[in-house]
Amino acid sequence: MCGITGYTGKSDAVARLLSGLRALEYRGYDSAGVAVMDAQGAVHVVKTKGRLRALEERLEKCPVHGRCGIGHTRWATHGAPSDVNAHPHGTDRLYVVHNGIIENDRELRAELSARGYNFLSETDTEAAACTIDSAYAETGDPVAALCAAAKRLRGSYALGVIFLDHPNEIYAVREGNPLIVAEGGDG
Ligand code: GLU
Repeated sequence: MCGITGYTGKSDAVARLLSGLRALEYRGYDSAGVAVMDAQGAVHVVKTKGRLRALEERLEKCPVHGRCGIGHTRWATHGAPSDVNAHPHGTDRLYVVHNGIIENDRELRAELSARGYNFLSETDTEAAACTIDSAYAETGDPVAALCAAAKRLRGSYALGVIFLDHPNEIYAVREGNPLIVAEGGDG
């Protein structure tokens, strides 16, 4: 079991993401990471094998600032716990955090590899990220892309997604796993 979190609003996203991940620590995890979009629309990914403290140390050394981001604590199912396999995973267009298992990841990887996608990690999540990317390249619309990808993904998942050309927005989709969306005073 792991956890995903996301924040978009007026406050510092890193602080919000870390506090969300701390609240999910009880579920157990082996790695942690965040992707944060800065004011110029660039996305910065910081992730590491190990505890949240290790992520915080990385963030202290290489601070990232923004008001929109996604975060993850990972419980590895596909690929060993490692910096590379830690989430978020992404492409030139989007970044994804994932709780759950994509059962048809081998089939999707083979299909996507044949169409030119290169995979950096061993995770099923990267297959999901590239499936969404491929649908996004066709539709140009985040919701349409997630609906199309959901038809291809088999298994259980809660996904948080940010698209580089949709600043300050977080998209989410779930199948089988819980996902809560809430609005507060500042985000
Ligand atoms: N199946 C994914 C992985 O191995 C996500 C596992 C999780 O829920 O943390 O990276």
